[in-house]
Amino acid sequence: MSGLFTITHSMVQSYERCRKQYWFTYLSGFERPPDEVVTPAGLIGTGVHRAMKTLCLTGDPEDGARELDAYLRMPAHDCAGPGTDAFDRAMALYARGCEAHASIASEDRWPELDTWAPVPSRAVTVRARIDRADRFAGGSWQVIDWKTGHDLDEVTDAQLDLGHVAVRTSFRVPRDATVRAVGWNLRSGQVRERVLRRDDAVATVKRYIGIAYRIQATKDFPATPNRACGFCAWRPLCPDSEPPAVSEWDWSDDDLPGDDAPAGGPSA
Ligand code: SF4
Repeated sequence: MSGLFTITHSMVQSYERCRKQYWFTYLSGFERPPDEVVTPAGLIGTGVHRAMKTLCLTGDPEDGARELDAYLRMPAHDCAGPGTDAFDRAMALYARGCEAHASIASEDRWPELDTWAPVPSRAVTVRARIDRADRFAGGSWQVIDWKTGHDLDEVTDAQLDLGHVAVRTSFRVPRDATVRAVGWNLRSGQVRERVLRRDDAVATVKRYIGIAYRIQATKDFPATPNRACGFCAWRPLCPDSEPPAVSEWDWSDDDLPGDDAPAGGPSA
């Protein structure tokens, strides 16, 4: 819907992590540089998600396996290609995904749903992308975020909160129906489940409207170099990605109380 400020989980994460990264991504108009870092973990995550999408579409585990195999066999992905530990890990994760898929007895299902919930009176659209949505007999729903790495519970919850709102809005879920929000870790087997009601959706929408207003009012987008710089696509264009060797802001002994610390650190 035109004229509304669209807010997504990725936008909020970027704004929290580094405002300069947010500025590069959403405001600068610059073309995003190609990803410099290709890691086995990243390829496993992308490949397994693609395979799970295919599995959800066709219901045939063979189709997802072929999708994953073809993706990892690409020459650019040789660090996770056949014969590597990463390839075997990816196939093992997908096998667990097939078991998870088989355990879900839903009436209908949607893979990688990308949808939104407009709030015209507040000039904001809450947009969400979720790995899978299922509708069950009786009218209840489930949204799933597949995980292939370590769990970050608060990040998963935030993603699923938005997915819950988007599904409830797009599919006109009855007010008294619940939506089960599941973070399903294919690596650890952990299933993090929350049962969300309409009042949870209202709280999420209110929260994201507040964040959207905060972002829209932001004038300064300073860099906050952090551990994520190594994975930031904008690093080639960002002069702040490396901290200066010496600056007036460095901490020195003069800034610190006491003089009983051994010179050079605790082991000196
Ligand atoms: S490289 Fe680091 S400091 Fe620069 S925009 Fe990215 S996250 Fe921010």
